[in-house]
Amino acid sequence: MNAPTSLPVSMPIPGHVDPVPVPRPVTPREDGRTDLIGLPRPQIAALFQEAGLDAKAAKLRAKQVFHWLYHRGVTTFEAMTDIAKTMRPWLAERFVIGRPQVVEAQVSTDGTRKWLLRTADGHDFEMVFIPDADRGTLCVSSQVGCTLNCRFCHTGTMKLVRNLTPGEIVGQVMLARDALGEWPKGSMAGLDLTDEVEEDADEGSYTADGRLLTNIVMMGMGEPLYNFDNVRDALKLVMDGDGLALSKRRITLSTAGVVPMMARAGEEIGVNLAVSLHAVTKDVRDEIVPINRKFGLEELLQACADYPGASNARRITFEYVMLKDRNDSDDDARELVRLLKQYKLPAKVNLIPFNPWPGAPYECSTPERVKRFAEIVFEAGISAPVRTPRGRDIDAACGQLKTAAERRSRAELDRLAAEKQAALG
Ligand code: SF4
Repeated sequence: MNAPTSLPVSMPIPGHVDPVPVPRPVTPREDGRTDLIGLPRPQIAALFQEAGLDAKAAKLRAKQVFHWLYHRGVTTFEAMTDIAKTMRPWLAERFVIGRPQVVEAQVSTDGTRKWLLRTADGHDFEMVFIPDADRGTLCVSSQVGCTLNCRFCHTGTMKLVRNLTPGEIVGQVMLARDALGEWPKGSMAGLDLTDEVEEDADEGSYTADGRLLTNIVMMGMGEPLYNFDNVRDALKLVMDGDGLALSKRRITLSTAGVVPMMARAGEEIGVNLAVSLHAVTKDVRDEIVPINRKFGLEELLQACADYPGASNARRITFEYVMLKDRNDSDDDARELVRLLKQYKLPAKVNLIPFNPWPGAPYECSTPERVKRFAEIVFEAGISAPVRTPRGRDIDAACGQLKTAAERRSRAELDRLAAEKQAALG
């Protein structure tokens, strides 16, 4: 799906030293139509006006269309039954309602679902849904590939292709609702769509409400704070009370530690914060999470302490992947506690057993080591649950499905080449 070409799509490429902003335009749609998914309501109204409607009609149509798109989840203009029949083809000639294309969908024996998705210009990325007893969490990607090269992460071995657009980010949430059958059904009678449009809709009041998809984590492929504007714009649509209406308390943004953007994330998006910490000494973190060479541990923890809205009721999650003999000693656990206390952080630590992929440079810590590490943190009064690995039978760790699909397609190409060779011979 494509954002209008007027949207600024630029990104910093950090390397390990200095980020450099490099523009990466999205390929425009060949049919010249504009995808409405990812656009805020005033921009939809402006496009309708540009296309010939008068200001009042454009505003009303934008409100109706926005509701159909984000609250009802329709994927055709024909389904927008309160819009005049003659108007629907007019819209369809000029606009589209995009979803990322599903290349592959898998369901694990533990209920985890994973999708390999494709953008309209042919780039693959991933999305994972993890159901638990009391919640269902969608892990959303922000970039195709990643620049940060975290050594334990499979996505970090892939080159960054481009930032995902707001439409491609919010489109993942919409696609998950499609797949889980979670759009509201029934008639629109009684809904007042004729009054003045609220430009700043309230924060969502969405509750679990018996639905499967209750939470979102920006923790899929990519570093969300290196695609700040698009992630912010997409999450605003997810939180919009007239649309997907998911509360900011149910959304978590995970960063590897892009310190200069953290305060803005708190102020402009206001969702929960998670930090990929993974190590407590400079040497080890420099190796595991190389952005540490640019923004060190002290700066990162200070930015966490300053994060707007963090409190004991809204703690910051510190992700810690357990790597055998690398970051899993008793001393590491004690240093972690010391640092969290020194910066007075309202913290929760997620201990993640490492899920190795072929050629990975690390092994997972032993279960006894993970248990001991968790005990030390927990005994210091900090919650430290050990995350159960999910969806291992479907390569659910970040980046693995994309690689598996590429491996398969390479194998297919080899087979075709061999068949061709045999036919020629
Ligand atoms: S952990 Fe996140 S930031 Fe680090 S390489 Fe993987 S996708 Fe990028």
